[in-house]
Amino acid sequence: MAEIKTIGILTSGGDAPGMNAAIRAVTRSAIFNGLKVKGIYRGYKGLITDEIVDFRTQNVSNIIQMGGTILKTARCKEFTTPEGRQLAYEVMRRHEIDALVVIGGDGSLTGARIFANEFNFPIVGLPGTIDNDLFGTDSTIGYDTALNTIMECVDKIRDTATSHERLFFIEVMGRDAGFLALNGAIASGAEAAIIPEISTQVDQLAELIENGFRKSKNSSIVLVAESPVTGGAMALAERVKNEYPSYDVRVSILGHLQRGGSPTAYDRILASRMGAAAIDAIMDDQRNVMIGVRNDEIVYVPFTRAIKEEKHVNPRLLDTLRRLSI
Ligand code: ADP
Repeated sequence: MAEIKTIGILTSGGDAPGMNAAIRAVTRSAIFNGLKVKGIYRGYKGLITDEIVDFRTQNVSNIIQMGGTILKTARCKEFTTPEGRQLAYEVMRRHEIDALVVIGGDGSLTGARIFANEFNFPIVGLPGTIDNDLFGTDSTIGYDTALNTIMECVDKIRDTATSHERLFFIEVMGRDAGFLALNGAIASGAEAAIIPEISTQVDQLAELIENGFRKSKNSSIVLVAESPVTGGAMALAERVKNEYPSYDVRVSILGHLQRGGSPTAYDRILASRMGAAAIDAIMDDQRNVMIGVRNDEIVYVPFTRAIKEEKHVNPRLLDTLRRLSI
């Protein structure tokens, strides 16, 4: 296999706090190992349009604490076509990039897998998404920060909810995964979480109301995962108004504020470890793997598994939430 001298790094898809810490770790670790680094702007789009800059250690100074991504991110339709990827590969070769580190979610790693197989060169992925929905890693970069943001928001909403004796539905992100809703509910002492993983099995709303979850309390907070499966907070509130009119119900959709903010210590450390591990993986001739952390150890997860296998919420957490909200 050809010797790797230069790596390219990009962030793609939805942004997540901690991506900058990952960019910093990949860049510094690569330079430490004698590799050259090129920063690719705007994800796969910048690979096609040639927005590529030489990165030195100073390019990543003073960014570990910043949310978002200094490399910017984008969604790129052209990259989903063979012609688009051909263009991307030609630009890559022009810059003498031998391997790529891709930081992104499910979609970005799917693109990475196809690209690497088509042109037979190494790509290492880092799981960067607030949703925590990638198999093979206990946590994704950005998840812990988003969880802390949700907790702070719910704490504030609780103050007003208690004063008015209201039922609040708070919608959080998650893209068909209930990690943020469920753990956010436990962290903020909410009464319940309505998550897509069990929405198809039970009518969670009816169950909540029929159990009289509000009887002994002067306010209630329910976290709802944004998903067509749960219907979202608005739809649930409509149902309550129609079916249980005695409840004074309100909705709060947290939206994009969940993506912002300075990364937590946990996310900075996770991103730093994963970024350094990405370079170890490349030096170790690994290819088409995502870096994960399981039981506090770095693991290499083949792209196919990371993307295709489902990561389940721990059902015991639901039980904990139920017990603690009586
Ligand atoms: P995320 O990485 O956060 O899941 P997206 O699903 O939007 O975000 O994916 C980001 C980008 O990855 C897309 O805009 C596209 O360029 C690329 N991508 C996603 N799916 C594929 C695919 N099946 N083939 C090639 N590229 C893809």
